[in-house]
Amino acid sequence: MRIIKNVSEMQSFANSLRAKDEKISFVPTMGFLHEGHLSLVEIAQNNSTFVVVSIFVNPTQFGPNEDFDSYPRDFERDKSLLEAKGVDVLFAPTKEEFYSENHLTYVQNGSLSDFLCGNSRPNHFRGVTTVVSKLFNTVKPHIAVFGQKDAQQVLIIKKMVQDLNFDIEILVGEISREKDGLALSSRNKYLSEVERKDALVLSESLGLAEKMIFDGERNSELVISKMTDLILEKQTARIDYAEIVSSESLEKIDFLKGEILIALAVFIGKTRLIDNKIIKL
Ligand code: AMP
Repeated sequence: MRIIKNVSEMQSFANSLRAKDEKISFVPTMGFLHEGHLSLVEIAQNNSTFVVVSIFVNPTQFGPNEDFDSYPRDFERDKSLLEAKGVDVLFAPTKEEFYSENHLTYVQNGSLSDFLCGNSRPNHFRGVTTVVSKLFNTVKPHIAVFGQKDAQQVLIIKKMVQDLNFDIEILVGEISREKDGLALSSRNKYLSEVERKDALVLSESLGLAEKMIFDGERNSELVISKMTDLILEKQTARIDYAEIVSSESLEKIDFLKGEILIALAVFIGKTRLIDNKIIKL
């Protein structure tokens, strides 16, 4: 596996691959890798001839009081995992390499970032679309793979690709979970033993909502209120949001029909976790 830390080296390597008709797929990550990330790598491998994974903890998507500094990092472990998986290139620039001191330009997105995580993380998606654009222009992939775990991110990236004419196909991987249902996340590392148990309530409340809906409930408020009750039984839990929205526009829906996204962000202690489920009615 070749490791590249420099933007211009990555760009010229991508040019040489394209000249040889390689099909480049790309999995952007912030590192501290888990099986969820590796499942995206498998999708990339199955759909291309050359796989690039990036590790970059992107400062512009973190708010001032968020966990940029403490975000878990373990480059050597990540490197071994990717090597063992057969990844071709690991692109891992430093913050200074990737953002010049006088960086001025941001990719602003419209209404999709006003909902869900956008409410509690005001500039988060602007940071995401900016870094993903920069990564796309550096890695020059034909295909990029994102996880459904970040459902709102997937929608925003797909819209950006369409609106800005990026010639890149976006593939989406399912949410990878622990055996007991907890969605894999680099941030799970922050959880104490008690919090780890309480964190299960995210997937449990999604299961409860799904069951209510399958049993015929169509009143969104009622479903959310049952989910909320279940979550708040846990001492360490504080709800950031629990919503049922259109899976396309992310607007709230009262009477459940069509394709719906049940989306959750819950603080377990100090750790903010997200999870979601799509249901087609
Ligand atoms: P991150 O390193 O958290 O920025 O995530 C990098 C990519 O992995 C994003 O596209 C995420 O949506 C995806 N991802 C994170 N957790 C999971 C998971 N449990 N299952 C599948 N994909 C995931």
